Amino acid sequence: MKEHEIRPEALLNRFLELTAEDAKNYFSNETRLEVSCVACGGTQTKHQFDKNDFAYVRCVDCGALFQSPRPTIANFELFYRQSKSSCYYAEVFFPAIAETRREKIFRPRVEQLMKLCEEKAINVKRLFDVGAGFGIFLEEWRKCFPQAQLLAIEPSAPLARECRSKSLEVVEETVENVVGRDNSADLVTCFEVLEHVYDPLAFLQVLRRLVRPGGYVLVSTLCIDGFDLQVLWDKSNQISPPHHINFLPVEGFKKLFQRAGLINVEVTTPGRLDVDIVRNACKSNPELLQGQRFLNNLLEDDSSATALQNFLVEQRKSSHAWVIGQKK
Ligand SMILES: [Zn+2]
Repeated sequence: MKEHEIRPEALLNRFLELTAEDAKNYFSNETRLEVSCVACGGTQTKHQFDKNDFAYVRCVDCGALFQSPRPTIANFELFYRQSKSSCYYAEVFFPAIAETRREKIFRPRVEQLMKLCEEKAINVKRLFDVGAGFGIFLEEWRKCFPQAQLLAIEPSAPLARECRSKSLEVVEETVENVVGRDNSADLVTCFEVLEHVYDPLAFLQVLRRLVRPGGYVLVSTLCIDGFDLQVLWDKSNQISPPHHINFLPVEGFKKLFQRAGLINVEVTTPGRLDVDIVRNACKSNPELLQGQRFLNNLLEDDSSATALQNFLVEQRKSSHAWVIGQKK
C-alpha cells in the first residue's frame, strides 16, 4: 500500500488548505484552556510548536504530544458539524477513495482483527463500531461473520445514512450519548477517532462501559513514537489542527487504557506507510532531510525501504498503532 493510493495528493492538499481556513474561521478569538496530559494526566508540559495557530505541547512524564491550550468543546463540535474541511472529507475525499480503502485498509483490517480475536479467544457475537463512518469495516466484518450482531455508532447524519443504506443497525449519536447498551458488546472497535477526541480519558471510559465484563476495547490511532511523526514532527500532514489533537506514545496508550479501567493492555504498531510518507514529504520538500545522507540512502532504495518498514512494525516504531484492553 502507498500513501497516495489512500490519500491522493490533490485531494489531501485541498483538505489541508480547507483545514487551515477552518482553523481561523471557527476558532479565532476563543478562550483556550490548558489541559493536562491526555495520556497520563500529568501537568508538566513543554511547548513544541504552533500550527494553524494551535499550540502543541509534549508531556514531560510520558512524551505524549497534544494540542494545548485547547479551545472549548463547543467550538470543536461546531467545527465537526459545519466546517468546510469536515464536509469535504465526508462528501468528496472519502467517497473518492472508499473502494480503494475497502481493498487496501478495511479488508486487511478485518483479517488482522480476526487473527487477534483468535489469539485472545474472543468470541465476537456482538460488535459495536464507534465512529463507523461509511460502514465499510462492519460490512466487511459481516461478510466473514454473517451471524454477528453489529452496531454502528455514528453521530454524523450523512454518514449514519450511509451505514443504514448498507443495512447496518445504527445509533446516530456521539458515543457519550448512547443509552441502553451498557455491558453488552463482546468487542468495541474504534478506528482512527482517538486522535480527534476532546477528552480521550472520558471517551475511553465510555467505550469500556459498552463492553461486557471480560470483553475488549480495540482502538487504532496515530502514535507519536512512530517513524514518520518523529522525522517530520511539525511538518507532518498528520498534525493538522483542528482535526488531529492527540498523539500518544506506546507507554502513554497503556497509561490511558489503565486509567480508564482496562486491563491486559497491549500495543502494536502494524502501520505500513511510515517510510512512504517520509519519502513523499521529501519529494515535495527536498530540504527536509538535507545532509541526512544515511537516511536518504536508506529511503531511496526500495528493498531497504521495505525492510525498514518491517523493522518499524517489529519494534513498535510505526506511527499507526492498535491498542487493545480488556474489561475485568
Ligand atoms: Zn503524559
